[in-house]
Amino acid sequence: MTRRTIVAGNWKLNKTIAETRRLIQLFRNRLAGIDTRATVLVCPPTVAIETAVDAAKGSAVGIGAQNVFWEPGGAFTGEVSVPMLEAAGVEFVLIGHSERRSIFGETDAEVNRKLKAVLGGDLTPIVCVGESLEEREAGRTEEVVRRQVETGLSEVAPDHAHRLVLAYEPVWAIGTGRTATPEMANEVHRLIRGRLVDMFGGRSADGISILYGGSVKAENAASLMAETDIDGVLVGGASLDAESFTEIVRSAP
Ligand code: PEP
Repeated sequence: MTRRTIVAGNWKLNKTIAETRRLIQLFRNRLAGIDTRATVLVCPPTVAIETAVDAAKGSAVGIGAQNVFWEPGGAFTGEVSVPMLEAAGVEFVLIGHSERRSIFGETDAEVNRKLKAVLGGDLTPIVCVGESLEEREAGRTEEVVRRQVETGLSEVAPDHAHRLVLAYEPVWAIGTGRTATPEMANEVHRLIRGRLVDMFGGRSADGISILYGGSVKAENAASLMAETDIDGVLVGGASLDAESFTEIVRSAP
């Protein structure tokens, strides 16, 4: 089965509404000049989502959210819901980014609640997993990633599996300039796919794109995406610059 290649940008807590409009305009102009079969999206901060959707209209740039809450509405101060994102024209949503986990204390069980809420609607979830430096050095990468996948994706109906996208982001490689080697990353991607096979069966698991994230730049994107089980990239810092993000899209197979 051919899996779709996805190049996603995570802007984190960067860019005002005006800056969002400018960056998307710059990026869509550059992107129009290249021939790619990759699915391309950016995840601006929540306050700029409406502007981003408007600025990307008619282009190949999809818009994602960086987070979502599992309840559709109610007394949940500060949160944003699946129906709200859908009504705003969002197509993708990150779930369980390591910064959500480490800074805001998000657990695997919460990741799972969010995922199930998203799968109840039409958004495409991008579920992030990955071990810390301490866990890698203690030889616990497999155990940690396995737990994140099993708990995060538990009770997902097999007929929803084709809508899943995963991102393997070793925490020690995010924003640090340290990238996993393509071989190192692919080894974990294969391990993740093995778990997906156990959970959803070979056919479904084979269709799930698994992205790599962690200091991806124009210089290393092609070699990462050349690996058998790396189906795209989730890019933080380098997605804030239209030229470098375009170069990353250009290097997608
Ligand atoms: C990320 O935010 O998901 C990320 C991988 O960041 P960076 O590319 O800056 O390491």
